[in-house]
Amino acid sequence: MQTVLIVEDEEDIRELLALRVKREGFAALEAADGAVALKLAARHRPDIILLDIMLPGQDGLTVCKNLQRSAETAAIPVIMLTARGEEMDRVVGLELGAADYVVKPFSVREVILRIRAVLRRTRPPSENLTLHCGSVRMDLAEHSVSVAASPVVLTLTEFRLLEDLLRHRGKARSREQLLDSVWGYSFEGYARTVDTHVRRLRGKLGAASGCIETIRGVGYKAREEESC
Ligand code: CA
Repeated sequence: MQTVLIVEDEEDIRELLALRVKREGFAALEAADGAVALKLAARHRPDIILLDIMLPGQDGLTVCKNLQRSAETAAIPVIMLTARGEEMDRVVGLELGAADYVVKPFSVREVILRIRAVLRRTRPPSENLTLHCGSVRMDLAEHSVSVAASPVVLTLTEFRLLEDLLRHRGKARSREQLLDSVWGYSFEGYARTVDTHVRRLRGKLGAASGCIETIRGVGYKAREEESC
């Protein structure tokens, strides 16, 4: 059974979400603040996290950052719950690596659809596939990445971005194609989200960062040659 961690301080909303996700066949964990959320996420490794931005103590964006910092929780997809009109929160949430967001007030049905869509998108592939680019090696079944045999911890978004580029090795991928493939939809004006994640990904790849080439006016590509 897949588990959803619901992080929301408003009890009515939290309980409603918990009730409905259980009715949909998921297990539900509940947290009313960020500290409890981080503890539950590390202990139970839920399949997905619904994370409200307006929380007492550390806000949802900080919680999202902290989830991504820990190797135990970095790969768990996060759906942010944002207030209407808080455009900045949405942009920042996606830049931080949230898989999706839902704007309040939302219909619970919409939230469930988003959960299913994100889980479909992020399901580990059943194929036992390894992707390479120079010294970078990705094992999709293990969900692991290494550079020159040293493990590298990537967030889910960084992982999916690298996976897309390596699957299309030698071919330029536009920011729109990458948004579509990694985030599941394209947002005009959110193209810089792709740049932010590529920058972070390159930072983590270190000496092998040259494996991702910038194609001016288009986007990015993974180098064809083995020398990167
Ligand atoms: Ca709240």
